[in-house]
Amino acid sequence: ELPENVRSFWKWLGDQGVVSAKSAAEPAVVPEGLGLVARRDIGRNEVVLEIPKRLWISPETAAASKIGALCGGLKPWVSVALFLIREKYDEDSAWRVYLDVLPESTDSTIFWSEEELAELKGTQLLSNTLGAKEYLENEFSKLEQEILKPNKDMFPSGITVDDFMWAFGILRSRAFSRLRGQDLVLIPLADLINHNPEIKTEDYAYEIKGAGLFSRDLLFSLKSPVYVKAGGQVYIQYDVNKSNAELALDYGFVESNPNRNSYTLTIEILESDPFFGDKLDIAETNGMAETGYFDIVEGQSLPAGMLQYIRLVALGGSDAFLLESIFSNTIWGHLELPVSRSNEELICRVVRDACKSALSGFATTIEEDEKLLEEGKLDPRMELAIKVRIGEKKVLQQIDQIFKDRELELDLLEYYQERRLKDLGLVGEQGEIIFWE
Ligand code: SAM
Repeated sequence: ELPENVRSFWKWLGDQGVVSAKSAAEPAVVPEGLGLVARRDIGRNEVVLEIPKRLWISPETAAASKIGALCGGLKPWVSVALFLIREKYDEDSAWRVYLDVLPESTDSTIFWSEEELAELKGTQLLSNTLGAKEYLENEFSKLEQEILKPNKDMFPSGITVDDFMWAFGILRSRAFSRLRGQDLVLIPLADLINHNPEIKTEDYAYEIKGAGLFSRDLLFSLKSPVYVKAGGQVYIQYDVNKSNAELALDYGFVESNPNRNSYTLTIEILESDPFFGDKLDIAETNGMAETGYFDIVEGQSLPAGMLQYIRLVALGGSDAFLLESIFSNTIWGHLELPVSRSNEELICRVVRDACKSALSGFATTIEEDEKLLEEGKLDPRMELAIKVRIGEKKVLQQIDQIFKDRELELDLLEYYQERRLKDLGLVGEQGEIIFWE
């Protein structure tokens, strides 16, 4: 038996002419919360449901509502968040039945307690979560000053930052984006679709199309990427490119798939560097900036451009001549290969120190975490925390290993000067320098 709020929602959609006895799928209680279950066999790429534009909630909806005049200067997502909060407080909202099927929160780390967050000690996910919360607090206090306080008659009193976090969490976990002409849109019913790691492609899951020859309305059309038997849950792939840290922040779940494990190395050209200006010029000429962010993924090689960028940052001493303007066209190419023993040694040391320092920030080892997972019966947030801890530590160990191996090769690598002499034909077969023949 469906919960009352879900039954009212389904009836409302029926009254709107959006669903009928012939609809391919319906809401149901599933392990992921609510979800969509097939009412008959659904073929691959077959339409699961179609929702007309008048039921979408987007920045346009906010702009056309009573608060529309206040939305002009707001970021699109903030205007939708404000719209949702206002409707949520309004008992007579036209969106009541929809609002009543929205969850109060998800397992996204923005909703975790201090105690739960403590389980993320050492992770980038923790700093991303704290960063997101701080950003939201700032956005909310701006909203309070600029919109809520000056327009007290339009809003119920007592709107708090928690309401704002709720709205952010809702949008982050269920708004569709990257749609034709629509950056951010909530689509009732379609937003009950859950994610399945087994579905490897995002292709063809949904599209916007015209409602028909005699209609100017648009339809959001959700398709099943795979065949689903009657009674089975319909799923899609949310985003193949998100890391576990991103999935955890956006949706409150992670995957076991190793290539979702990633760690972002941040490398910076310091302003105190005597060659700051020259290095920045070179970086910018080659599509980089003062700070480089490199996402390293478990089981994959270092991202393109990373070694070049660190070699540039570490350049100095007797290698500084490479920063001179006569090299400006060729420097980026030279940096693809080791520049000098001291430069290569420095980058190994700096990266390994960074890895070790990051690893020392964790409270548990991978083995301890794995044991906790094996013991089982964990609360979903605890399980998520442990999986993210393991993932980040594995990637850090992998990066450390790459540079440890490199350190052992320092004497065998070929550096700029030797390559240069070879190019000039001044190095013999045995590596001896030839002064004359
Ligand atoms: N289950 C949602 C509900 O009850 O409203 C509907 C889907 S909504 C677009 C996305 C949210 O569903 C996520 O934030 C997460 O809470 C849940 N979810 C979706 N796929 C999941 C999965 N594979 N594992 C765990 N939770 C999932």
